[in-house]
Amino acid sequence: MENEAVSKNFIEQIIDQDIAEGHCSKVVTRFPPEPNGYLHIGHAKSILLNYGLAKEYGGQFNMRFDDTNPTKEKEEFVDSIKKDVEWLGAKWHGDVLFASGYFQNMYEAAVKLIKKGKAYVCDLTPEQIREYRGTLTEPGKESPYRNRSVEENLALFEDMKNGKFKDGEKVLRAKIDMASPNINMRDPIIYRVAHITHHRTGDQWCIYPMYDFAHPIEDATEGITHSICTLEFEDHRPLYDWVVREVGYENPPKQIEFAKLYLNNVVTGKRYIKKLVEDKIVDGWDDPRLVSIAALRRRGFTPESIQNFVELVGVTKSQGAVEYPMLEYCIREDLKLKANRMMAVLDPVKLVIDNYPEGQVEYMEVANNQENPELGTRKVPFTKELYIEREDFMEEPPKKYFRLFPGNEVRLMNAYFVTCVDFKKDETGKITEIHCTYDPETRGGNFTGRKVKGTIHWVSATEGKKATVRLYENIVDEEKGVYNEEDGSINVNPNSLQVLENCYVEPELMKAAAEDKFQFVRNGYFCADLKDSKEGAPVFNRIVSLKSSFKMPAK
Ligand code: ATP
Ligand code: MG
Repeated sequence: MENEAVSKNFIEQIIDQDIAEGHCSKVVTRFPPEPNGYLHIGHAKSILLNYGLAKEYGGQFNMRFDDTNPTKEKEEFVDSIKKDVEWLGAKWHGDVLFASGYFQNMYEAAVKLIKKGKAYVCDLTPEQIREYRGTLTEPGKESPYRNRSVEENLALFEDMKNGKFKDGEKVLRAKIDMASPNINMRDPIIYRVAHITHHRTGDQWCIYPMYDFAHPIEDATEGITHSICTLEFEDHRPLYDWVVREVGYENPPKQIEFAKLYLNNVVTGKRYIKKLVEDKIVDGWDDPRLVSIAALRRRGFTPESIQNFVELVGVTKSQGAVEYPMLEYCIREDLKLKANRMMAVLDPVKLVIDNYPEGQVEYMEVANNQENPELGTRKVPFTKELYIEREDFMEEPPKKYFRLFPGNEVRLMNAYFVTCVDFKKDETGKITEIHCTYDPETRGGNFTGRKVKGTIHWVSATEGKKATVRLYENIVDEEKGVYNEEDGSINVNPNSLQVLENCYVEPELMKAAAEDKFQFVRNGYFCADLKDSKEGAPVFNRIVSLKSSFKMPAK
């Protein structure tokens, strides 16, 4: 990212201009999730964008829950969202804020609008309101209640607040323009009656503000300077501006829209994830095959890899989707120099070295990461009986197969050269044991006296430990696409999870703590599972394999 200073994104350009023109002395941004579900990779973009801008301009980043719709909100989600934002590395200013903390301000703002003749209580039913609203091609019709006096509106709104009306019986509407070409401006509802208990304010209120009215007030109350949201709110911006202007804020925030982040072939919709959880296809919102932040974390993605990913995707106004392999690229890049490179055999077959002393244990000194000497070295036990990958032996090798086959010599990584002298099969033809002889002169594996083409990894059969390893494919059947054309359900890939119970790993890996990450040579990057790893019995999730067809786009 050598030339990142060169071009600024369009939001930075707007901020630069606001500062240059004296509209903004300190940049204040926020992340305003609704606490009604877990955060996903798309939210990570919004979090890191808002936090990144505040940091870049020496400003302030607020964490605010947009909890104005009590039907869907839960405290459980407040906690998980906080945890995810912290983990991503975004540090918010002061305490976490809640839109419900401003219900009084919103109420007062509504009263102010009524007094200015800019809001009225309307008795039309929801169906009538829809009918009166008009269409994209036809103007709306004015409500018969539109011209109520200020006094009458004040009294009725007070009655709404005091619980004199049933849900849906009356609403408060902004008085703007029923003929506006923008439907959002056709006297939008700004308050509704709803006798629902709120997760924070309890039964204090039985009227709740609508999003388009509440959000600008939340922003303005906190002194947000740049209210960054996604493109679908572009048509709502005139209403946003109307609210902050009519309520009379001195330095109103500016709404700026950017394109949502979409990843191809993943499931982000709350409804769909809920179904996958209910159908027990995944083991929760944080199942490592999902792309919620919690799931990515459990899979083994790091905050740095997600930060880099978001950076690479960039900030634009034009909608586009990104391929999942780009995310994989970012985690490989991040772990390349950070993760120790260990030996683990996922599909073991026994290899016996006939001329190696029975019962002897030799410790091989091995670099933890050949490309990063700072990670030091470790000792790996070598014995007469080893496990190697089943695919590293063939009875009748095709051309260009350089691994073990009868008569061939290979290098055991970090150890000796061995030559295959024999093998055993069971009645089904499955290889059960491979016999080799070793050359004591070749210790360390770097012997240059003879050329061998193949290098294979191994784990001591007697000193190594058994471990569970989980391999993943996309939860979605990519051939069929994410959604079933007939019923809109998810096309689930039946092979998305493979659990290997019979793997052998270096004894060192038994010390892995939850979330520790490693490269298993030739097999990929792995992470000790956050939930299922027990002390002395780690469970490893494959984050990503080592190879990819993904190429970084040229700059
Ligand atoms: P979803 O329905 O996918 O969970 P949402 O928009 O309902 O998303 P909110 O809690 O309302 O979720 O969103 C919080 C913030 O995250 C908003 O500012 C929203 O614009 C932003 N956001 C949501 N999805 C994306 C995305 N895919 N890319 C970037 N920002 C997003
Ligand atoms: Mg939402």
